[in-house]
Amino acid sequence: MSTTPRATPDVDLAIVGGGLVGASLAVALSGKGFRVLLIEAAQPPAIAPQWDERCIALNARSQHIVQQLGLWPRVQAEAVAITATHISERGRFGMAQFTAAEAGLEALGHNLPLRHIGQTVWQAAQQAEGVQIRAPAAVTAVTASDQGVELRLADGQTVHARLLAAADGAQSAVRRALNIAAELHDYRQSAIVTAIRVQRPRAGVAYERFTPDGPIAVLPKPGDACSLIWTLPTAAAERAMALADEVFLAEAAACFGGRLGQWTALGRRQCYPLLRTVSTRLSAPSTMFVGNAAHALHPVAAQGFNLGLRDVAALAELLQVCPLAQWADVPARYAAARTQDAERTAGFTHSLVGLFSNRWPGLASARHLGLLGLNLLPGLKREVMWQNLGYGRQA
Ligand SMILES: Cc1cc2nc3c(=O)[nH]c(=O)nc-3n(C[C@H](O)[C@H](O)[C@H](O)COP(=O)(O)OP(=O)(O)OC[C@H]3O[C@@H](n4cnc5c(N)ncnc54)[C@H](O)[C@@H]3O)c2cc1C
Repeated sequence: MSTTPRATPDVDLAIVGGGLVGASLAVALSGKGFRVLLIEAAQPPAIAPQWDERCIALNARSQHIVQQLGLWPRVQAEAVAITATHISERGRFGMAQFTAAEAGLEALGHNLPLRHIGQTVWQAAQQAEGVQIRAPAAVTAVTASDQGVELRLADGQTVHARLLAAADGAQSAVRRALNIAAELHDYRQSAIVTAIRVQRPRAGVAYERFTPDGPIAVLPKPGDACSLIWTLPTAAAERAMALADEVFLAEAAACFGGRLGQWTALGRRQCYPLLRTVSTRLSAPSTMFVGNAAHALHPVAAQGFNLGLRDVAALAELLQVCPLAQWADVPARYAAARTQDAERTAGFTHSLVGLFSNRWPGLASARHLGLLGLNLLPGLKREVMWQNLGYGRQA
C-alpha cells in the first residue's frame, strides 16, 4: 500500500516489536543521533512472562554482537560457556563432536536464561539515548512507500517514520498489513522445554541426540542444572506434558540414553508448537524485517535469535553508514546483505529436521554415515561448525 509522502516524519526509525530482536536493535542505535521509536504491544513488565523458562544458546558470533551492544558484562554472570557439542543418533554408534579448541576459541557459545537476557536488553533499550518507547501500544495498520511509513496504533494515533523495522515476531502484523506472504511449514512437532538435574553432569558439554520422533537436547545451565529441549510429534508431546514428574523424567532420560547417569530432578515444563515461518521478502518500501518477523525457525540448531542478532548488526551498520538523505536505499541494501545468511541458516535448520526425522531405512544409513563423515571429513566438519558458530563459513 502507498502513503502520502511526508516532508517531516515524526521519527527516523520506528521499530515495531520490543522482543529480544527489536529491543536489541534499539540498543544498537543508542546515541547514534537518530530519533528512534520502539513500539511494543505488551505492557512491561508483562513482557517478562513471555520470557519464559527457555534458555538461549548464543553462538560465538552472537557473543561478539552482544559485546558490541555493551551488554555482555550484564549477562555474563548468567551465561554458561559451551566448550563442546556432542551429536549422536539414538540406536546408532555414529556421533560427531565439535570442540572450542578445534575452532581456536574459548567457547563455541554460551547458554543463558531467556528471562535474564530479555530483561537486560529491555532495560538497556529503556536507557538508550535517542530511543523513545511506546508500550503497551499495538500497531494495527501500516502504509508504506519509498517516502516513508505511516503506522496506526490501537489507540487511534498515527506515527510517521522515515523507515520501519518490523521486529513483531512470527505472526508479524506489519508483514500482513503490507500483504507480504510467508512460507509456512508445520513440523507437527512440539518442543518441551524444562530444567533437569543429572547424576553425572559434564561441565560445558551440550548434547543433541536425534531420534526418529525428533531431537532431544541437554545443555549446561547456570548452577548445577541442565536445560532440556525435547522435541516430539504433537500428540506425543501433549501426552508427555500430562505425565507425572517422575514418569516424564524417566521417559525423557530413557530417550536420551545413559551418558549423564540418572536424571534426578525436573523443573517447570513448557511446550511450544513448532512452525517454520519465513517471509518471502526481507524488505518492502521503507521497511525491513528482522528476527522472527523475517524467519522463525525450528529450534533444533538453536539458530533463531542468533540469526536475528545478525539482522540487527547488519541493519544498524547500514543505518550508520548511509546518510539520512539516502535512507530510502536502506531496505534494498539490507535485503541484499541478509539474503544469503538468512537462506543458508533457514535451509540448514530445515534440512537437519528433515534428515533426522525421517524413518526411511536408506536415509537412516545415510545420516549414520553423515555423522561419521562429520567426524572423519575435516572440510565438512569445519563447514558445519562455522555455520553453528554463526559465521557461515570460516573467515
Ligand atoms: C523452544 C525454543 C528454543 C529456542 N532456543 C533458541 C536458542 O537456543 N538459540 C537461539 O538463537 N534461538 C532460540 N530460539 C528462537 C528464539 O527464541 C527466537 O528466535 C527469538 O526469541 C525471536 O525474537 P523476536 O524479538 O524476533 O520475536 P518475538 O520474541 O516474537 O517478539 C516479537 C515482539 O513483538 C511484539 N508485537 C507483536 N505484534 C505487535 C504489534 N502489532 N505491535 C507492537 N508490537 C507487537 C510482541 O509483543 C513481542 O514482544 C528458540 C525458540 C524456541 C521456541
